[in-house]
Amino acid sequence: MVIAVLEQNYESTQAIPRAGLPAAFDSEAESLELTVRLVRFLQARGYRARAHGKMDAQTIPFAIAAGLGQLGLNRQLLTPAAGSRCRLTMLTTDAPLAMGDAVDYGLHGICDRCQVCVHRCPVGAIPKRRKMHRGVEKIKINQKRCFATVAQADGCAVCMKVCPVQRYGLAAVLSEFAHSGRILGRGSDQLEGYDWPLDGRHYGPGERPRLPIAFHDPPGFGFRVH
Ligand code: SF4
Ligand code: SF4
Repeated sequence: MVIAVLEQNYESTQAIPRAGLPAAFDSEAESLELTVRLVRFLQARGYRARAHGKMDAQTIPFAIAAGLGQLGLNRQLLTPAAGSRCRLTMLTTDAPLAMGDAVDYGLHGICDRCQVCVHRCPVGAIPKRRKMHRGVEKIKINQKRCFATVAQADGCAVCMKVCPVQRYGLAAVLSEFAHSGRILGRGSDQLEGYDWPLDGRHYGPGERPRLPIAFHDPPGFGFRVH
């Protein structure tokens, strides 16, 4: 199993949710194209190789096991270089490859002190604490609220945009924390602010859009959440 990570455009990601979808689609398309090229490269050397779609398996647990990052409170893979501002693809092959190992980058401790995504999610879908779920301690996002928001607000992804690891990189976040005990950018409009596509307003730290009850349960959205 190979997990490939491609960094998403930095500038476009800072304009999420307004400019998030084009950036996501562009990097998703590029990452799929690169993965197919890698598959063909391996096949041309006599190995079996196959690219896999999103429905074949969860990429994030494999990425964590390979040491590419750790799970953030936003339930996304936080890579040290770009946080969750990246796209993951997966392929399997019988080529002899060195296996990666999980790495503790210190991200869980940063998340516990940061909590910016928890406070900035427009619909409060991210809980503050991890809980045991099917034998694993992790954050359980309110998927019904999240999916309804993603579907109606240009893909949302505010929880990616406001993450300091995404914006500044883990090295800078760890350095600031070691120096001052503060989370880099926390409380600043640069990190926490976003333009909400449904009303065109800018929401700075401490402000969130007011959404009608119907927003959370739009007609035709019959989610089954497990
Ligand atoms: S915003 Fe903060 S709490 Fe959320 S994933 Fe990023 S580092 Fe962790
Ligand atoms: S995508 Fe939006 S609604 Fe879903 S958890 Fe992230 S910030 Fe919240």
